[in-house]
Amino acid sequence: MAVLSRCSRAVTAATTPNAAAAKFSYLIRALSPFSSSSSSTFDADNGLNSRIKPAVLGTLKREPKDRNVQWVFLGCPGVGKGTYASRLSDLLGIPHIATGDLVRDELASSGPLSSQLKEIVNQGKLVSDEIIIDLLSKRLEAGEAKGESGFILDGFPRTVRQAEILEGVTDIDLVINLKLREEALLAKCLGRRICSECGGNYNVACIDIKAENGKPGMYMAPLPPPPQCASKLITRADDTEEVVKQRLRIYQAMTLPVEDFYRSRGKLLEFDLPGGVRESWPKLLHALNLEDEEDKQSAAA
Ligand code: ADP
Repeated sequence: MAVLSRCSRAVTAATTPNAAAAKFSYLIRALSPFSSSSSSTFDADNGLNSRIKPAVLGTLKREPKDRNVQWVFLGCPGVGKGTYASRLSDLLGIPHIATGDLVRDELASSGPLSSQLKEIVNQGKLVSDEIIIDLLSKRLEAGEAKGESGFILDGFPRTVRQAEILEGVTDIDLVINLKLREEALLAKCLGRRICSECGGNYNVACIDIKAENGKPGMYMAPLPPPPQCASKLITRADDTEEVVKQRLRIYQAMTLPVEDFYRSRGKLLEFDLPGGVRESWPKLLHALNLEDEEDKQSAAA
């Protein structure tokens, strides 16, 4: 471990993009407790995408304690990546690392990057790959020091270059691509509220899309905060109509190709959210073969 921290410190001292990537590579390896390669086959219809690699499905068939959880959540702004990733993180005891949160933490600090980041984020643009990898490396390094292993990434990778860098340093087991009808995405971003104290994510929007032209309707109830958070809610500065539309455009241009990147590697699990959390969460657990895990947790509570 001492060798590892020396190595980290040496890389921390360097500031070039290559050095950031090298440090990232080192940390990702340090956080990968065992190899995820598996020859298991999958023989049951679990509601999963049939084009996913058998080895990936094999991973999902294992007992959660034997799984190597190095997962990525993809999906448009407002789809609910943070909500589902943080629920899975609580369920599995694996850290949920949201690069958007890392960026917002940096922005809120008076660090050297703060004003530069504010301008980029508030215009709905992407931060450079180098900055993001550097922030993520620091977060992984802090996690490593606390003995963390595995991760559920949310918001990274967001460009093919980021995906290539990640793929070059570790084997991601599964990429969950959350999908929601486009009509709901803007409303969900505009209705998002965050507890300034605990960081909890809530939503005041009530989405009620009527059935039309053979397309089914969709209802998503608001996600109200618990009483202790109700008076501490804030709205993200980039959750304005103009900026959300820009983020959605950038997702199409920069992140849709990341879906293809993982699809072509057989790692992409497409998950169409059928509605709000109450309806979608049990279905997601079923798709991930984690229903028993939640039963165990409820029984222990
Ligand atoms: P969203 O709701 O759009 O998915 P996030 O909370 O994930 O938002 O990210 C907020 C902002 O942080 C993004 O608009 C972008 O400016 C920056 N950001 C987060 N992750 C990345 C990344 N992987 N690459 C570049 N920029 C990022």
